[in-house]
Amino acid sequence: MESPSTTREESAPYFSCTRLNSTTFVIHERDKWEEHPFIYVKICDDPPVVVLSDTGCGGGRLDHPNFGNLRDFIETYPIPENGETPLNPRKSNGELSRTYSIICTHCHYDHILGLNHFPAACSRVIASSHDKSFIEQKLPEHSLCESVGVPVPDYTVSIWAKDFEKIYSSPSLNLQILHTPGHTPDELAFYDQNERHLFVGDSFYERVANDKSYEQAIIFPKEGNFIHYMQSLEKMLTFVNVRNAEAHKHPVKIGCGHVTSSVDGRDILLAVKELFLTIIAGKVPIVKTEEKRGEEFVFWKEVGDPRFSVAAPKRLMLDARKAMGFGA
Ligand SMILES: [Zn+2]
Repeated sequence: MESPSTTREESAPYFSCTRLNSTTFVIHERDKWEEHPFIYVKICDDPPVVVLSDTGCGGGRLDHPNFGNLRDFIETYPIPENGETPLNPRKSNGELSRTYSIICTHCHYDHILGLNHFPAACSRVIASSHDKSFIEQKLPEHSLCESVGVPVPDYTVSIWAKDFEKIYSSPSLNLQILHTPGHTPDELAFYDQNERHLFVGDSFYERVANDKSYEQAIIFPKEGNFIHYMQSLEKMLTFVNVRNAEAHKHPVKIGCGHVTSSVDGRDILLAVKELFLTIIAGKVPIVKTEEKRGEEFVFWKEVGDPRFSVAAPKRLMLDARKAMGFGA
């Protein structure tokens, strides 16, 4: 038997954590499916709450020296950029310092599997009320858990957040939900007013990771919808433009569910909108076609070193082209 203390993965720990802003950290999970989800962790003392944005793939490599369980990582692992203190340290009597509010940007497996580690006694789960049936019915299929062969986590939504609902409104915690269907019907974004950061889940992200070690396409399942997606992009753009017009404040930044954690909000929204208009117009090359879940699934990528790439059932693009009156 090999010693479990190999150093093979020391340079790429299972979870890594960096500071995003004065109250928020971002955890990057290196999961076995290579989804690389970003988990955002906002620490608040009044009220004593940790706000999690998604829970990743749930760890799963318990033999790993750098933790295979998100909750253990948050409660026990010292974070250099947090003064060598865990993000939510347990008290000496084992109790939690703060309870959890978990915002699910949508129900895909790489965002919800970690819910297994956060029982209802210490957490509440917030999801979009836009299309409750998407979560309440056929969750194994809609979450893609079935496709990757894992059981759906056992969780109950505590708050079905309405569009533009403020889920917290205290001086130190001011968060607002936006319904942004398109990637999935339940996709949401939320805005941290104090930090002026908008979190958009899987609606979009850049193509290449900061350290250039992996690439990801903006990907749509067959439950996606480009028409709703374009409306959601427009809605986020209007939202950001209004905040950017506020005097003496820095422009809104955007953090995504993968790859991109902090970029100028207006700039990336304009770039993504332009890209999808170009795709719908048929002017971005399709570089790969395959069959996925019974449909023709295509991959769009501009030549060279583009900022984004997109993968989706071709039908979503054709439906949008028809609805928007592009081409024949
Ligand atoms: Zn997703």
